[in-house]
Amino acid sequence: MPHQIDPSCSFTEGGDCLAKDAFGVHREAQVLAKRGNENAQTEEIYVHFNGFDKRWDRWTNAGQARKFRKHYAKIRKEEKSEKEDVDDKRPRPKRQLDDHQLTLSEVEEKIRDQHEQRTRIKNIQLVHFGEWELETWYYSPYPEEVQHEKKLFVCDRCFYYCNGERRMRAHLHICKLMAPPGRKIYAEGNITIFEVNADTEDPVVKTYTQCLCLFSKLFMDNKTIYFDLREYSFYVLCQSDSSGNLRPAGYFSKQKMEPQHNLSCLVVFPAYFRHGYGLLLIQLSYELSRREGLIAGPEKPLSELGLASYRRYWSWMVIDLLRSMTDRQTIGIDEICVRLGIIDEDVRDTVFDLDLIDPKRDDAISTISTRQLDDLSEKKAKKPSLLLNPKLLKWRGNGKKT
Ligand SMILES: [Zn+2]
Repeated sequence: MPHQIDPSCSFTEGGDCLAKDAFGVHREAQVLAKRGNENAQTEEIYVHFNGFDKRWDRWTNAGQARKFRKHYAKIRKEEKSEKEDVDDKRPRPKRQLDDHQLTLSEVEEKIRDQHEQRTRIKNIQLVHFGEWELETWYYSPYPEEVQHEKKLFVCDRCFYYCNGERRMRAHLHICKLMAPPGRKIYAEGNITIFEVNADTEDPVVKTYTQCLCLFSKLFMDNKTIYFDLREYSFYVLCQSDSSGNLRPAGYFSKQKMEPQHNLSCLVVFPAYFRHGYGLLLIQLSYELSRREGLIAGPEKPLSELGLASYRRYWSWMVIDLLRSMTDRQTIGIDEICVRLGIIDEDVRDTVFDLDLIDPKRDDAISTISTRQLDDLSEKKAKKPSLLLNPKLLKWRGNGKKT
């Protein structure tokens, strides 16, 4: 049903509106903040589009947004109060402590709420990164002196940041970092991957990993706060440009003390989308855990984009394995986990999604014909465009290079 609009109304924080998205389409949205635009003497509102990821949140001219007609808002209000009635009737857990004390989960919830409040509005809208100008997606906790810059300049060698083009040019003259400060573990074609171990007192590594996290947070809605980066290793994928210079295109981090998790955060910078780098890094994360003899998986929850990439990887791996087992009647989930190095939960989700679960047993799958496998490959389990070549990976367990 087309939205009915009333152009005469003003907006309040927390209220509903119809705002134009990046493609000029009016969508239902919630007003998160307001500000005056001195030059144009108009008001701008910061909106979140209902049902869409936070990365689409944006400042928009209030004059171009519209408010719902009253009768529409009334329907929404009635729906909301009905939901509240239902929620009120749900049994609530008994409090273990008196009213002035908070349980641990309540404290965590409070911290999460405060974090959510502080980070709900993007602080930096544009970032100049190497030769790219990128629109940011999320808040990042950069220091106060650059927090309110419309455009941030970031070095695409060392991730140094500053607030002006002249400063960045001066930095590029003295920036000596030609590659990530770690060990080269993989090279094929124009791709090189480095392992950067943050457990060091080396100031170059410390600054590099801190600045890398700040930059990647602009494209990642992750509530994790890195209190101590020394617990992590970073696997940075670089693409060589036409002059042979290495440009960081993405990375994943891994917490060293949690071997069951082979990946904490995965980010491919938007300038390098559609190269297959996300799936290549996922392949690498599993190859590393397999070499340590581990069955592992990524930390949860996954972002919407992360889950899509993982689903494709897991489906491809399962289908690829089944091709070598077409003579078998059934295959246990346990066997698939061991053969692929993927944890039980992720294998189960995948075979359920592919509709392969054995109707008589929930711990096994039924094998299917090659034709059916081809069909699934085409629809849900396409082979990655970039495949990791394990023979080129110079890495063995415990972070030692071969
Ligand atoms: Zn630099």
